[in-house]
Amino acid sequence: MPDVIATTAEAHLADLAERLVAFRRRECVLCYTNRMVGEHGCAGRLRFAARWLEHHRHSRPDVVRDLRDGGVRCDCWLLLVSWTLRDDLLVWSPLTEALDWPDVTPACEGAPPGDACAIWRRQPAS
Ligand SMILES: [Zn+2]
Ligand SMILES: [Zn+2]
Repeated sequence: MPDVIATTAEAHLADLAERLVAFRRRECVLCYTNRMVGEHGCAGRLRFAARWLEHHRHSRPDVVRDLRDGGVRCDCWLLLVSWTLRDDLLVWSPLTEALDWPDVTPACEGAPPGDACAIWRRQPAS
């Protein structure tokens, strides 16, 4: 009997874990990665972006090229160094006296499969 309970609990936990990192319909790779890093933090590697790409294998977004050639080291690197929010979505921060990300990131605008949606812009190569 305890085995049955343990197995049920494990299945429940696995199901819960799956839901915590679930994809949203039409959510682009950057919005997904950003949402996951916000909820679970950056693991210091490409964890969520890689998960998205693994799950959407049919698509070949520009971000893939970034990952391969751009030396992107982790999820938050992708969101801060390779890509960033569009300028007009940034807000002035009195603290840093610079434009900063808003407290709440705008919702994904949806994108053709594999592309980044319109709230993101590619950072100029440095
Ligand atoms: Zn990181
Ligand atoms: Zn998006």
